[in-house]
Amino acid sequence: MLEISFRQGAVDDLLKYAKGMSPLEAVAFLLGVAKGDQHSVSEIMAVNNADKSAVSFSVAPQELYDVYALAEKAGLSIVGLFHSHPAPPYPSTIDKNFMKMNPFVWVIASSIDWRIEAFILTGSHIAPVKIVRG
Ligand SMILES: [Zn+2]
Repeated sequence: MLEISFRQGAVDDLLKYAKGMSPLEAVAFLLGVAKGDQHSVSEIMAVNNADKSAVSFSVAPQELYDVYALAEKAGLSIVGLFHSHPAPPYPSTIDKNFMKMNPFVWVIASSIDWRIEAFILTGSHIAPVKIVRG
């Protein structure tokens, strides 16, 4: 099974960040190293939800560019995208469409009960990814 691992406390930090943004959907890029089935996150880059919405999110092109530039400078890859939404922690129909364009691990927190799960799109199938909390 695919795994995404975080350093100690990082998952709690993500949840704290998302709770602080609530009711807006929170967004962050997860930078690190992907090796086979293992994705390890070393940096969390919170970005603004350009939609300023409680039911959707988007990232401004300039901010996206900055994330890619920083990742390259640090010798890291974007291994995942985190967001929160007001539904169970599974990809929505819109999320699934965005997953096609952004083929990394999607970590989703539910702003209803703050459960957190991760997924990746492989072909047309959404596969669960195990979250390993450092
Ligand atoms: Zn979503």
